[in-house]
Amino acid sequence: MGARRPLVAGNWKMHKTIGEATAFVREFAVLAPDFEHVDAVVCPPFTALAATHAAIGTLPLGLGAQTMWDLDAGPYTGEISPEMIVDCGATWVILGHSERRATSGETDDDVQRKVEAALRFELTPIVCVGESALDHAAGRADVHVVGQTRAAFADIAPSDVARCVVAYEPIWAIGSGTPDTPSSANAVMRAIRGSVAGLERARILYGGSVKPENIGAFVGQSDIDGALVGSASLDPRSFAALLANASAAVAS
Ligand code: PEP
Repeated sequence: MGARRPLVAGNWKMHKTIGEATAFVREFAVLAPDFEHVDAVVCPPFTALAATHAAIGTLPLGLGAQTMWDLDAGPYTGEISPEMIVDCGATWVILGHSERRATSGETDDDVQRKVEAALRFELTPIVCVGESALDHAAGRADVHVVGQTRAAFADIAPSDVARCVVAYEPIWAIGSGTPDTPSSANAVMRAIRGSVAGLERARILYGGSVKPENIGAFVGQSDIDGALVGSASLDPRSFAALLANASAAVAS
């Protein structure tokens, strides 16, 4: 195994009530998931964070939010502050997911402020970057994601950058059933790693139609330190299989 311990993070998006989230944790725990070589995190909706935290108990499963606001408190109706996320027991937060950039108009500057805020509250940001199908077809994937990465980490000290996680998620691969190839993703991720001081020590995940059957091929690449997973993270058996297969790939 390399110096960077792999991470599998499940993004549950707008799925799971409190009851469903806690049932997931109960069912996942009895599957005796393999945490020996791989870290794992689940990111439920805000409404299920505290209950999921309670259900996790002593299981070494991390808990993250799917977004947050960058200010500590104030007149921001409907928003959730970093402190509120910490209060629910989360220690991770996904920032700049392409769905939020698309539906909530989140910009590179917003993401940068959120990275600073997350670090201030000791939350580990999972910063999402990724190109559109158009940019991919035009051979602009590297340029696009390097630009997003540099913007997200502007003014952040390399020692803090190293504490963050980047998720490279080609937008066209998310939820499409058509992942990038491991070698093509690895090449883009190498460019991301070289774009900001500190990222050589940080974990960079691939995201986009990762399943138990293909996670091993991604994790086997030199610059892929795990995966951010949407639909295949919703079922406890599938999430446990993702961990087992990632673990087998790094242990071999
Ligand atoms: C995601 O939205 O972060 C994602 C990677 O989704 P999926 O695994 O379903 O493609």
